[in-house]
Amino acid sequence: MQRRSALKALINCKCPRCRQGKIFPYPAYRINKMLEMNKSCPHCGLVFEREPGFFIGAMYVSYAFIVAIFITVALVLNYGFGDPDLWVYIFSVLGVVLIFLPLIVRYSRVLYLNGFGGIKYDKNL
Ligand SMILES: [Zn+2]
Repeated sequence: MQRRSALKALINCKCPRCRQGKIFPYPAYRINKMLEMNKSCPHCGLVFEREPGFFIGAMYVSYAFIVAIFITVALVLNYGFGDPDLWVYIFSVLGVVLIFLPLIVRYSRVLYLNGFGGIKYDKNL
């Protein structure tokens, strides 16, 4: 059995155990279905919500994403656009966060599941 790449599985939002089943049933651009996840892996049957309220912890990962966006946008505005007014910073950060929100939600859950789910890759699945 060929070993599947962990990074590829992470980028494609695949199950951390079999690296084949999709975690999210809909693509990221379906904004109204952004929060919907498969209850279990369609390939190996792993239950994604490890315990009740498991994905509340993904908030900390999304917080880190938003802080990274805030710092990046602030640096670009400060050095690239000559330190504009405060409202430009506020609306730029809000705009970038809103644009990337579906990806922030997805990848914070995927990273949290991979990091704190206690799931080992099984190449035989
Ligand atoms: Zn799986």
